[in-house]
Amino acid sequence: MGVYAQPVQELIDELGRLPGIGPKSAQRIAFHLLKMEKVDALRLARAITEAKDRVAFCERCFNIAEGPLCDLCADDRRDSTVLCVVEEPRDIVAVEKTQEFNGRYHVLQGAISPIEGIGPEQLRVRELLARLDSDEVTEVILCTNPNLEGEATAMYLSRLLKDLQVKVTRIASGLPVGGDLEYADELTLGRALEGRREVTGS
Ligand SMILES: [Zn+2]
Repeated sequence: MGVYAQPVQELIDELGRLPGIGPKSAQRIAFHLLKMEKVDALRLARAITEAKDRVAFCERCFNIAEGPLCDLCADDRRDSTVLCVVEEPRDIVAVEKTQEFNGRYHVLQGAISPIEGIGPEQLRVRELLARLDSDEVTEVILCTNPNLEGEATAMYLSRLLKDLQVKVTRIASGLPVGGDLEYADELTLGRALEGRREVTGS
């Protein structure tokens, strides 16, 4: 048994499972929630329930979606010959903000990370290959984060795709190394997209 009453301990444990929240933060947030007006705390609970009930993943690109397809896949004005591969749905938001890209996306839902035990099987790689098989894609832009995991994922994919009849490009360096796409400003990310280079996967 912990030092806290069971419901409090449970709340702390649940919060501690969230990304980027250590035990101390979990405690601080839990006590903040307990101090909050009930109506405010329940609004947060309801927002979580609503989001989980109403939002799922797009069956084509694995972006978040309110129906079977996300808004971007449902929009037939987008260029379906260029596919931008990103790690997470939030990266789509970052690329969209640059207004430099009018193609489609594919969300891997993560990146290769041996330390965390995440290999290609845990990512939406099989689904990507299936799309390349059936869709009219001529270019795949590897738009994973400019950090260790993102680079490893880009390298893995460039090798995997090298024998396919599709041009594979990687966004240009110049983004802050070790950072996430979502923290890059629109101009820098826009330039990185524009300056993308073909990778040979050798
Ligand atoms: Zn989609």
